Amino acid sequence: MSPRVLGFIGLGVMGYPMALNLLKKLEEGTKLHVYDVSEEALSKLKNESPELVLVCSSAREVAEKSDILFTIVPEGRHVRAVYLEERTGVLSAAIDGKILVDCSTIDTKTSIDVHGAIRNKSATASFYDAPVSGGSLGAAAGSLTFMLGCKEDDPNLPLLKELLGAMGSSIFPCGGFALGLTAKLCNNYCSGLIAIATAEAMNIGIKCGMNPVLLSGIFATSTAQSTINDKWNPVPGVCPNAPASNDYQGGFKVQLMKKDFNLAVEMAKRVGAELRLGDPGLSVYDGASVDEACRNRDSRVIFRYIGGNEDWKDRLGGSK
Ligand code: NAD
Repeated sequence: MSPRVLGFIGLGVMGYPMALNLLKKLEEGTKLHVYDVSEEALSKLKNESPELVLVCSSAREVAEKSDILFTIVPEGRHVRAVYLEERTGVLSAAIDGKILVDCSTIDTKTSIDVHGAIRNKSATASFYDAPVSGGSLGAAAGSLTFMLGCKEDDPNLPLLKELLGAMGSSIFPCGGFALGLTAKLCNNYCSGLIAIATAEAMNIGIKCGMNPVLLSGIFATSTAQSTINDKWNPVPGVCPNAPASNDYQGGFKVQLMKKDFNLAVEMAKRVGAELRLGDPGLSVYDGASVDEACRNRDSRVIFRYIGGNEDWKDRLGGSK
């Protein structure tokens, strides 16, 4: 059974299509109270469904008027502002019995701090970390993966599954609070390194005169196989639909990968997990995110950043 009053804060690249899916897929008449610091995002969503979208003037107002609220903003400092801001934050409202779900990819420390503040304020409010994977296309298609910071037997899980199911197709309870974020940061650390390894290996092959399409096909049936190789190959022209084949436009911005990779390295330090590839990997994403030729492009632009030959077809005589 869908509750009738929901809230949504943060209508950006991810949040906007997620909110739209809630409006489209939930029980008819489900109302959505929304807030974003961008007036443009608010009025655009209002125009989509004037009766069901109720624009609020602060995070506090959204919290006051909704039973369950979702937040998805860029970084930990934005999450702190949304929840903890003294006069306008979620916690300045009465939150007893409310369910608060943060889908932002942030450091676990911020999430734990917000959780603590919520616990101090109300014994009956619930707070969950629920970061997402799947990018803007997954958000629009309603096929996101949610990594939910709770146990399998959490009493709110059936309701959360129903609501998150309007925005995603895979929902993983990760075992406890902040473990959703842990899963997300571990995933991005791993996929960030796979992208660097794939870009470097393809670069070696191209420099030795090998056709990268052939090399990628060999990886696909050998031990270098990965989703990055098969679907998001960093070399232009290998995967026709990958951002690399469209001047690295779209996809997952290199600055976001740098942010997540850095958060994973910090988390590893905090828990004493030894990393051999953390610092070198971070220096690649750090450098690429301030390089004019790479900034604002898909993170697989690291092939360009390491000097990979994007015109390999010319060198191979136009062969494919
Ligand atoms: P975005 O910058 O496009 O959108 C963020 C939105 O939050 C903006 O509309 C902004 O105005 C709003 N905002 C910022 N501070 C606010 C505040 N104090 N109060 C209210 N609204 C505020 O970012 P995004 O790409 O949607 O990413 C959001 C989160 O999702 C990030 O943590 C990101 O790492 C994560 N994520 C992004 C992707 C992706 O492909 N873009 C994929 C998975 C996860």
